[in-house]
Amino acid sequence: MKSWKTKQGSEIFKVLDRRSNAYLICCENVNLLVDSGMELDFQYLQSNISTLLPNQRNTGYLILTHSHYDHCQNAFAIQKLEGCKIIMSENESEYAKNGYTPLPDGTYPLTRLISWIGVKLRPKWVEYVPFIPDILVTDELNLAGYGLPIRLIHTQGHSKGSISILVDNEIAIVGDALFGVFRNSVFPPFADDIAGMINSWGKLLDTGCQTFLPGHGNEITRILLQKEYDKFSPRQ
Ligand SMILES: [Zn+2]
Repeated sequence: MKSWKTKQGSEIFKVLDRRSNAYLICCENVNLLVDSGMELDFQYLQSNISTLLPNQRNTGYLILTHSHYDHCQNAFAIQKLEGCKIIMSENESEYAKNGYTPLPDGTYPLTRLISWIGVKLRPKWVEYVPFIPDILVTDELNLAGYGLPIRLIHTQGHSKGSISILVDNEIAIVGDALFGVFRNSVFPPFADDIAGMINSWGKLLDTGCQTFLPGHGNEITRILLQKEYDKFSPRQ
């Protein structure tokens, strides 16, 4: 299982690497799961977490980078099973209560078509079991108040309530604000607000984080993000 460790000693494990990624942050004796994956990956996710934490089943928090179905379809089940607190953006909390988040726009002609068809048909598989989040993030939430070296910042653009999780201000888990599937590109195939998303890339660079862990694909270096930001930012 792929993992990262910050200089301060916080560990991050990639506990799901299928249709979407999920990460487990272990620090200060607290385990925080970031994203929950798709329903069909539930058993795989659970077995990876059990392997990692054989003696302590407890996941204290489930943080959702955003509420698209491929990231939150297991949120209700995990909340029920673990009794954990769900943290997400206030901007998408109403979607969570309804079990449906509108699909994002495509950023390429092909993905625009896919999105258009998806919005028209609204297939059952883009829905999820509704859940009630416990803690809502507006602009920023510093978990130092909970004794954790973690800060959540609003990085909207892919969706209106996308958030990123900064661990020891060194590694950022960014959901779909960045895409790690294509070589030499971080541009997601779907986003509601491209200009807002690129602005969020600048915000992520401003944190000083060195490594960015996306919701799909592999880790992204600061060098690549800076290169992409310089290419797409209107200020350049
Ligand atoms: Zn998404």
